[in-house]
Amino acid sequence: MSFDRFGRNITYLRISLTDKCNLRCVYCMPEDMTFRPRHELLQDDEIGRLVRIFAHLGFNKIRLTGGEPTIRSNFIDIVREIAATPGIETVAMTTNGVLLGDLAQPLADAGMSRVNVSIDTLDPEKFHRITRWGHVDEVWDGIQKAERAGLQIKLNCVVVRGYNDGQDVVDLARLTLSHPWQVRFIEMMPFGDVADFQQAGMVTEEELRERISAELGPLTLQNDGQLDGEAQLYTLEDAPGTVGFISSISKPFCAGCNRARLTADGKLRLCLLREKEVDLLTPLRAGASDQELIQIIEDGIWHKPWGHDLAHDIIPLNRVMSEIGG
Ligand code: SAM
Ligand code: SF4
Repeated sequence: MSFDRFGRNITYLRISLTDKCNLRCVYCMPEDMTFRPRHELLQDDEIGRLVRIFAHLGFNKIRLTGGEPTIRSNFIDIVREIAATPGIETVAMTTNGVLLGDLAQPLADAGMSRVNVSIDTLDPEKFHRITRWGHVDEVWDGIQKAERAGLQIKLNCVVVRGYNDGQDVVDLARLTLSHPWQVRFIEMMPFGDVADFQQAGMVTEEELRERISAELGPLTLQNDGQLDGEAQLYTLEDAPGTVGFISSISKPFCAGCNRARLTADGKLRLCLLREKEVDLLTPLRAGASDQELIQIIEDGIWHKPWGHDLAHDIIPLNRVMSEIGG
């Protein structure tokens, strides 16, 4: 078991498989983003070894993310190896869905059980405007193939004022009336160079709930208000699916945080919104033993920051979201 000094048991690791992406979402990275050279990224065998070490430390859930995880070479093999690691119970990913149509069945066969697909609007033109390069029909096709492959589906929508804060939100919430999906609205968070844009365009949960209820009827709070992971869940009347709100800024959920992140360049990031990181790549490549790596990881987790401090304008500046692994 891996406890931090606040008594939180950290069992969930998000691994960024690459900082690269086949889209350029306005809230995530600039269009002319530069990426790290390949040799600076964790190699397949290094990922496999670190996952075995984290599993030994009590981690049981791995989420693959990025950048866009599906563009990583040998992606299916990486999933298969992680899923076969003793102690790992759940392998999930967060994806933009562009390549999901072809990958859904092979991923399910390799042992993945859950996918979170980012889809910020169902409107093709607006989708293209937000993602700069994306086509929503490809993502929709991927979602349907994922459902057919038996993958559990959640949809992620980051709401940006002036881009997708109108009918888009209602149309996405309406999907829960006909599908057993969790549709989650994520408050935009500030990072690095794009922080000013993000802060100016943030839309709060309250505003979204009012908009959805005005058109689709009341939203009923679920689980007595207990969070499902990081999402506060509601249902529309007679809906098989749920509407979730991930409100990291207006309602921080740091007290219940059970996660750590491994960046594509091998740094253990203890809090998404804090700059503190612990380098694992350098000792790994310098020949550290498993026991030495365990010690470094345990020390890092012990010193995991309590939470973010956006309320005092402390914004992480050292990386943008795609480099950390959202
Ligand atoms: N490329 C994949 C995708 O888009 O799903 C995985 C990586 S992406 C960085 C992970 C999640 O972070 C996505 O749901 C994305 O919408 C979200 N995200 C990106 N930038 C964000 C920001 N500034 N604030 C909140 N969420 C953000
Ligand atoms: Fe790529 Fe995901 Fe960032 Fe969009 S949010 S640019 S899809 S990494």
